[in-house]
Amino acid sequence: MQTYDLIIIGAGPAGMTAGLYAARRAMKVIILTMDIGGQVATTPDIENYPGIDFVKGTDLAQAMYEQTLKAGCEIRLNTMVDNLEKRGEEYIVKAGGEEYSAPTVILSFGKTPRKLGVPGDEEYRGKGVTYCATCDGPLYKNKTVVVVGGGNSAIDAALYLEKIASKVYLVHRRDQLRGEAVMIDRVTKNSTVEIIWDSVVTEVAGDGEVVTEVKLKNIKTEEQKNIKTDGVFVEVGFEIKADFVKSLVKTDEAGQIIVDEFMRTSDPNIFAVGDLTPVPYKQIVISGGQGAIAALAAYDDNAKRAGKPTGGTDWGSLKK
Ligand code: NAP
Repeated sequence: MQTYDLIIIGAGPAGMTAGLYAARRAMKVIILTMDIGGQVATTPDIENYPGIDFVKGTDLAQAMYEQTLKAGCEIRLNTMVDNLEKRGEEYIVKAGGEEYSAPTVILSFGKTPRKLGVPGDEEYRGKGVTYCATCDGPLYKNKTVVVVGGGNSAIDAALYLEKIASKVYLVHRRDQLRGEAVMIDRVTKNSTVEIIWDSVVTEVAGDGEVVTEVKLKNIKTEEQKNIKTDGVFVEVGFEIKADFVKSLVKTDEAGQIIVDEFMRTSDPNIFAVGDLTPVPYKQIVISGGQGAIAALAAYDDNAKRAGKPTGGTDWGSLKK
């Protein structure tokens, strides 16, 4: 059993910021994670992180990773958490065949991409169907691609792929995009991306080896049409896969983990941060802020348990 002051599950911006803050308070802290960056690492271009005019998602994730490690936080990669349970005053995390214990845990494993869930989606995964524009975009140089979705991720992917592919279609099920105004303007007014409104993909078809076309249906007119394509980029949002913590913490009707202003869940020694909380705006900078709050509160809790002075809240405004 490996013992820590704090275990963090997941290394997106929320988890890594928590790791950074906890390490800088000299906590013995480890992040258990499958990968680095989470959703950020699949975001091609980032233009709204304060102080940085432009950065690629993978570069921002790598910079956060290096800074967190440098601060003294351990990060165990390719580590899938199988179970979290309470034993006495400690939490035991089973991950990658090992056991870790700590009096405090921060959950920051984010959301999982929602599946398109139509015929051909599974069959052609990795053979033309992809859920990561940043990872697979370069494979589609001078090819035709279809992006599915109407949120910021789909717009980002379409604008990124426009620089690589010869033709980009964006298929959206409504007649309005949901995203940042500046991005909506860019994709609707200043790009060659062809938006197919009010339409859903009913099937991804291929020759058995690779994707060759998508079948679409206009949900207002019921009209059906096929588009020849080499790739299908699915960007239809995210869902939370939090079954392994459901018996420990309360969730809302959407499955998001409910937290208070300290990012504490219904179990006071388990915190949750980032996109798996009900925070209404899922943004990198907001996730980072939540991570910092949780780490500082976790530090104070640990200090209280040890009978040491806490870091205290700023301006003395909060008394918990
Ligand atoms: P999202 O905002 O939930 O958007 C998902 C999109 O997919 C929606 O347009 C939705 O349609 C559509 N959709 C959902 N299920 C579908 C289905 N089964 N078939 C077809 N279309 C479907 O997800 P996201 O774009 O991945 O963004 C996630 C979060 O990250 C958001 O809060 C977003 O603001 C944030 N983000 C921000 C940035 C940025 O600030 N630059 C970049 C990326 C992500 P409806 O519109 O009809 O619901």
